[in-house]
Amino acid sequence: MQVPATFEYERADSVPHALELLEHYGPEARVVAGGHSLIPMMKLRLAQPEALIDINGLADELGGIAVEGDELAIGAMVRHTELLESATATDLFPIFRDAERVIADPIVRNRGTVGGSLCQGDPSEDLSAVFAALRATAVIQGPGGTRTVPVREFHQGPYETAVEPNELLIQLRVPVAPGTGSAYEKVERRVGDWPVAAAGAVLRIEGGTIVQAGIGLTAVGAAHFCAPEAEAYLDGRVPDAEAFAQAGRIAAEHCEPHADQRGPADYKRHLAAELTRRALARAAGRI
Ligand SMILES: Cc1cc2nc3c(=O)[nH]c(=O)nc-3n(C[C@H](O)[C@H](O)[C@H](O)COP(=O)(O)OP(=O)(O)OC[C@H]3O[C@@H](n4cnc5c(N)ncnc54)[C@H](O)[C@@H]3O)c2cc1C
Repeated sequence: MQVPATFEYERADSVPHALELLEHYGPEARVVAGGHSLIPMMKLRLAQPEALIDINGLADELGGIAVEGDELAIGAMVRHTELLESATATDLFPIFRDAERVIADPIVRNRGTVGGSLCQGDPSEDLSAVFAALRATAVIQGPGGTRTVPVREFHQGPYETAVEPNELLIQLRVPVAPGTGSAYEKVERRVGDWPVAAAGAVLRIEGGTIVQAGIGLTAVGAAHFCAPEAEAYLDGRVPDAEAFAQAGRIAAEHCEPHADQRGPADYKRHLAAELTRRALARAAGRI
């Protein structure tokens, strides 16, 4: 079936208006941002919302990439292409450039949004691993005001997030600290495909030792898209090849990859170790 079921359509003209519309239509309403995940799911009737609240009119209100104090703020309606082309974001965190270059294709990147990617909650989503590695915070707005949720608590299971039906994700905030390097490594079957496996690394090094490591993993069944055991192993260590290889092995041990059309579980576990090792080494080289 390639035709969606019938639905009401509303175009929000402000965040308060979008929240009013979500309240009015209730839990069977969905917001549509880039539509690159939601519309195909509606065509396949895997999603049958009774109402679509279009938030593309909020591209200014929910857009923008800027350093605010000691954080980088990225609006939920920032398109993949904007993030890829943002010197503010990619100079601070090259992990964004690494990841965005290999997310889908230009057509999807021109329309798909950062917020839509996080809210879709796909277990193979690249940006979920990136923001988990960066220890970002999600800003969510609802009828009672705004609240913040660490990205590492944002995903509550496949396709399930901390955003309630009457709320909107409005922004991602990434802590900025000196001495930080970052990188993303992905294996895909062909250009533009979802990952077979991918790993992101963020390293902060002071006085020749690692003071904080962030490791994000996607498509390999890592809980909350991160690898806390491998991060803990790296804390206080000298950033060398042996430490990175061991961190990769630890990260892979704690994954739960599933066999599917992209490959068997043991291959994905191998990739988790190897891509973590490579991402850590590249992140360290960028400090
Ligand atoms: C052919 C193809 C290839 C792709 N390849 C990759 C890939 O390699 N890697 C990858 O990571 N991704 C990939 N994607 C996904 C794509 O990059 C987008 O991330 C994805 O489409 C979601 O963004 P969107 O803005 O289109 O969201 P939408 O489809 O508009 O929305 C997705 C979900 O999020 C909800 N939502 C959207 N915005 C908000 C908000 N602000 N607040 C609350 N809820 C919200 C919607 O209600 C819906 O449930 C691919 C997509 C396609 C079509």
